Amino acid sequence: MNIKTIEEKLDDAILSSKKYIGIGEVASYIPELANVDADNFGVALVKTNGEMVLKGDKDIKFSIQSISKVIDLIIALEDRGKEKVFSKVGMEPTEYKFNSIRPISDRAANPLINAGAITTCSLIKGADVDEKFSRVMEKVKNLSNSKDIVFLEEVYNSEMKTTDINRSIAYYLKSIGIIENNADDVLDLYVRNCSIGVDIKQLAWIAAVLANGGKSLDGKEQLIDKEVVKITLALMAACGMYEESGKYLIEVGFPSKSGVGGAIIAIIPGKCGVCTYSPRLDKSGNSIRGKELLKEISQTLDLNIFI
Ligand code: GLN
Repeated sequence: MNIKTIEEKLDDAILSSKKYIGIGEVASYIPELANVDADNFGVALVKTNGEMVLKGDKDIKFSIQSISKVIDLIIALEDRGKEKVFSKVGMEPTEYKFNSIRPISDRAANPLINAGAITTCSLIKGADVDEKFSRVMEKVKNLSNSKDIVFLEEVYNSEMKTTDINRSIAYYLKSIGIIENNADDVLDLYVRNCSIGVDIKQLAWIAAVLANGGKSLDGKEQLIDKEVVKITLALMAACGMYEESGKYLIEVGFPSKSGVGGAIIAIIPGKCGVCTYSPRLDKSGNSIRGKELLKEISQTLDLNIFI
């Protein structure tokens, strides 16, 4: 489909998603997140050849939040290999909330909930937290084809002050031997990664690289190993929208990952990456307008991967 037609269809989808304006609440358990304008809205679609459509608030930087779990997983798989990673974290969805301690038996259910991402963070290589975090930042810059990736210090400080549940999870994982290094350091890295500031184009670009099998959009470089991309996309399809993942996959039909900052990334293999941004969330922590817009986009652009 040519980019002009895509843009027209995207405009229609945006129009029909307007009925969701004002529905849902911004996340406030991280106090700083409650300071964003609840009605910010944007969508970016990047084709695997690099052509793109950007709509709405394209210059606003927001915190990546749980979309960083995708990056954590990719780096952990690249650093340690899948045997090691999946000896520490499972591959199955869970009915519990993203920050629940319950989906941990001998290990966390999957890498896309907090317990699982805290585990993958513990597997990222580096001499100390600073070095590990700078590797994560480099990865985000590399995959988004952009140097303008920032660290949102207020978001980080705000979460560090209030993150008792994630601290509990980290300490619990340490106590059962899943985390082998210092639990405070692992938590610090996890929260730093959640506090990375991005815009819709940068996230859609990362999604497009995943849609392109891990290759840069100029086709010149394999930025992520293909096997790692396959695992990541399968887990995003199965677990990317928390306890709503199954229903969402039926309705939307492609791998996605949400974050409580209000963004959702979606990957349509071989075709494009999409990022929606709208901070009002449902009770699972998924952006309401973003979800509805992706449902609409899936239909109007015929993007469901199953049919
Ligand atoms: N930083 C957030 C947390 O750990 C990320 C959660 C999310 O985006 N769902 O609670």
